[in-house]
Amino acid sequence: MRWKDQLLKLKPYQPGKTIGEVKRQYNLTDIVKLASNENPFGSSENVKRKIAGNPGSYSVYPDGYAFELRNALAEHLGVKEGQIILGNGSDEIIQIIARALLSPQTNTVMAAPTFPQYKHNGIIEGSETKEIPVVNGAHDLDGMATAIDHQTSVVWLCSPNNPTGVHITEEELTAFMARVPDDVLVVLDEAYYEYVVADDFPDSIHLLDQYKNLIILRTFSKIYGLAGFRVGYGIANEDTIRVLEPAREPFNVNALAQTAAIAALEDQKFIEECRNENRAGLQQFYEFCDHAGLTYFPSQGNFILIDFNTDGQEVFQFLLERGYIVRSGTALGFPTGIRVTVGSKEQNEGVIKAMTEFLNVDAAISK
Ligand SMILES: *Cc1c(COP(=O)(O)O)cnc(C)c1O
Repeated sequence: MRWKDQLLKLKPYQPGKTIGEVKRQYNLTDIVKLASNENPFGSSENVKRKIAGNPGSYSVYPDGYAFELRNALAEHLGVKEGQIILGNGSDEIIQIIARALLSPQTNTVMAAPTFPQYKHNGIIEGSETKEIPVVNGAHDLDGMATAIDHQTSVVWLCSPNNPTGVHITEEELTAFMARVPDDVLVVLDEAYYEYVVADDFPDSIHLLDQYKNLIILRTFSKIYGLAGFRVGYGIANEDTIRVLEPAREPFNVNALAQTAAIAALEDQKFIEECRNENRAGLQQFYEFCDHAGLTYFPSQGNFILIDFNTDGQEVFQFLLERGYIVRSGTALGFPTGIRVTVGSKEQNEGVIKAMTEFLNVDAAISK
C-alpha cells in the first residue's frame, strides 16, 4: 500500500486510563479521574431534562447545518450564524483546518508543549511542524512570530495553554497579530475560555473584526460538561467559514449532541457556579504547593501543572495506586511534573492528601 510515510511513524492518541481499567488493575472501588480536564460537576440539569424530553426520531439524519444550535450560539456570542463552524468536538475543527491549509509545501507554527492535536494533524498532512518552546509556561510569541516564513500557513495559539494553564494577554495577542502576515491563519484555541478570570484576557470575538486571519476555537467538552457528546466550534469571519465548510462532514454533530449543547448553553448560571468552584479548587492546590514548596504555574484553566522535581511518572503511578488518575508530565513535555484537573472540593482534598503522602515517602527514601 502507498501509505503516507508520516502516518507509519505516528502513534494513535493515548487517552488517559479509564476508570474501569484502573479499578480492575489495582482492585480499587473508588476512582477519581482528574486526567482529562472534564467538569467534575457533570453538566447542567437542563441537559438531562431536554434529552429525556427529546422526541427522538433517530432514524433520520440530524440537521447538518445545526440550525437551532448555530442560532443559539450566534446569539450567545454576538456573531452572525455564518461566522460559526460546528465540529464533532473542537478536535474535528483542528482536523478541518489542517486539511484545508496544510500540505507538504507548507509549515505550521505552534508552542511546545501545547495541545498535541495541532502537531498530530500537521504531520498527517505532511506539513513541517515548527515547535517553539514555551517560556515560564507562556507562548514565546516573539519566537513564534520570528519562525513564520513564506511557507507558513497556520499558527496555533492555545490560551490558556494546555498543559500549563498560562494565558495570552490582549496586549500580547494584538502585538503578535500585527506581526503575522494576512495570509497566515492564526488559530486561537480557547477550550477553557469560560474558566478564565484574568482581566487582561482578550475579548477575542471582538478582535475578529480587525483580524480577518483569526479563528477562535471553543468547546462544549470542558466547562459545559459534555465531553461525551463531542461538540466544539470555530468562530471566524464569514469568508473564512465559507471556505472551511465544504471540508466539514455533512452530519458531523449528531442529533442528541445538538439538543444537549443547546440545553447546556441555556444554563449560564451553572457555568458561573462551575467557574467559581474551579477558582476555589485552584486555591486548594496553590496552598498545598506553597506549603510543600512545589512550583506550579498559576492557571486560568481547570487544571494545574505541578513540578515535583522528580520523575512525573513516579508521582503518577503513586497516585494511580491510590485511586487518583492524573496526567503524567512525561507525555506532556514536563517530565518532572504532573497535570491535575481541578475536581470537587472533596476530590481535591483527596488527591492533595495522596500527594502529601508521596512527598513524605519520597523524602524518607532520599534520606
Ligand atoms: C480538550 C481540548 C480540546 C478538545 O476539545 P473537544 O471539543 O473535546 O474536541 C481542544 N483544545 C484544547 C486545548 C483542549 O484542552
